[in-house]
Amino acid sequence: MSEPEECEECGAPRRAGLVACAYCETRYAGAPDGISCPKCGDDNLPTQVRCASCASSLMQVCVFCTQSSSIAANGCAHCGETFEGAAERKAQRAEQLRQQQLMGLAATGMSALGQAAASPTGQGILNEILRDLGQAAMGRKK
Ligand SMILES: [Zn+2]
Ligand SMILES: [Zn+2]
Ligand SMILES: [Zn+2]
Repeated sequence: MSEPEECEECGAPRRAGLVACAYCETRYAGAPDGISCPKCGDDNLPTQVRCASCASSLMQVCVFCTQSSSIAANGCAHCGETFEGAAERKAQRAEQLRQQQLMGLAATGMSALGQAAASPTGQGILNEILRDLGQAAMGRKK
């Protein structure tokens, strides 16, 4: 089956890379679902990286892995993150991670203290520290 070289509807020459006529917008027979150009609205073949009509980019860059995927995709083809609200999610995640790290640090600190208090040597050291602190609070009297 050979493809016609012009639009069956209006006779305009077919533009390579588009799935529908740029003039009358009739879908070419057997064409796959296209990517609508955000700039000019022409429907491009899913394999197009740039619009066949106006050369606008049809790719978007993932904020998570910085790889680019087609704007027709719902999510990144590389790491699977959904594009909708990606920037907000990334910021949220960074904040969560920071808090987890803080919590982790706090937890480690607590358990280190707990371990120290559990051993006789550690207890001795803790008592010394507490005594020193107490003396410091009393006005550094020796
Ligand atoms: Zn046409
Ligand atoms: Zn375009
Ligand atoms: Zn990604």
